Amino acid sequence: MTGQVLVLGGTGEARRLAAALVADGVDVVSSLAGRVAEPALPPGAVRIGGFGGVDGLVAWLRAERVSAVVDATHPFAAGMTDSAAAAARATGLPLLRLQRPGWSAQPGDDWRWVDSLAGAAEAVQGFGWVFLTTGRQGLAAFAGLAAHCVVRSVDPPQPPLPARTTTVLARGPFSVDDELALLREHAVDVVVTKDSGGSMTAAKLTAARELGLPVVLVRRPPLPAGVPVVATVGDARAWIRSRAI
Ligand code: NAP
Repeated sequence: MTGQVLVLGGTGEARRLAAALVADGVDVVSSLAGRVAEPALPPGAVRIGGFGGVDGLVAWLRAERVSAVVDATHPFAAGMTDSAAAAARATGLPLLRLQRPGWSAQPGDDWRWVDSLAGAAEAVQGFGWVFLTTGRQGLAAFAGLAAHCVVRSVDPPQPPLPARTTTVLARGPFSVDDELALLREHAVDVVVTKDSGGSMTAAKLTAARELGLPVVLVRRPPLPAGVPVVATVGDARAWIRSRAI
């Protein structure tokens, strides 16, 4: 053992990777942004809060004798992902990106791809009942909507919000039956989501297909060049093992 492995977290994959590394006897510290009031904590050491940009992260990596970094943040946490890539370049530390694959449309899906939350807000113009599952952050992009909006998030959303907003506080995973019930209860006619991927929140896509509803999907931000990417916790664990950290 030559140092700690830093897992940049906030996802189920990050928690499972931390558990696997702890089981392997690796000295692991997970980092959370601190956005969620009662986060699901991974096994092993945990630190919470931003590092203070690239310079803060570089200083932290040096002070804590980190020997490798796995960026297992959410596919849309582009600020942290870019910061990790810059800090790895500055320190020469090995960095791996663990990112689950995005979703793929199936027969019967009516998916409309957009590049941003602002693009999603434009794409739902003309709909009357919008289910917004893009998370608490970024809801301002939808604030100008006249439609009824059902917002689902883990913690209560903050203004600015669409004028006619119903909030549903819930943390996934959700079943298809849960999603069908919610879509019917609120008479939703369009669903908005980020292309988060994974199974935890995919049931809404199945439910939308079953009800013949269109889904507006926000494309993922690009990954930094030169950073190796794996899709599974097992592959990230093998990468750490191969480095004998
Ligand atoms: P972001 O925009 O990429 O990050 C903004 C800043 O928050 C970063 O520059 C960093 O601050 C801090 N930060 C983000 N993730 C961190 C982490 N794991 N540990 C320490 N600091 C972190 O991120 P975000 O989109 O706000 O997401 C925040 C967290 O929520 C992430 O950890 C992500 O995995 C999780 N999450 C995000 C989404 C989403 O849709 N974006 C969904 C589910 C979960 P400094 O510059 O000060 O270091």
